[in-house]
Amino acid sequence: MASYAGGCHCGAIRFRVRGVIDELVECNCSICAKTAYLHWEVEPQQFELEKGEQALSNYRFGTLQSQNYFCRTCGISPFRRSRSDPDAIDINARCLDGVALDSIPIVPFDGVHWEDQMRRLAATGEPGVSGESGVSDERGEPGVSDGT
Ligand SMILES: [Zn+2]
Repeated sequence: MASYAGGCHCGAIRFRVRGVIDELVECNCSICAKTAYLHWEVEPQQFELEKGEQALSNYRFGTLQSQNYFCRTCGISPFRRSRSDPDAIDINARCLDGVALDSIPIVPFDGVHWEDQMRRLAATGEPGVSGESGVSDERGEPGVSDGT
């Protein structure tokens, strides 16, 4: 299986992700539009934080359901936990080393109308949308606790 290295800009945060990038999701919500996130959602066991637990800060807003991690030093947000799938790790593919982003299909997500979009995806049985389960994560990945 493929393995990707990634991190923030200053290098304080470094991680590895195992898996295949089939597609990336581009969301138009208020924060994704400004951070230019290209989302690759993976299971926690695919993700390994190699360094930077202490460098992470967490910005929360709105419904407080998303965990918007970013580097305290350089401000880059290389991964998050999203509102639509809080159990997954939401990688910003722009923060992966050496990935040719223009070779990967990009799927739009209408985060501006989040509730409507989630209803549409549920109706079509789109995979990877688990909804707001609020289930606590006991799979023990490092460094991604919300600290609250
Ligand atoms: Zn940094």
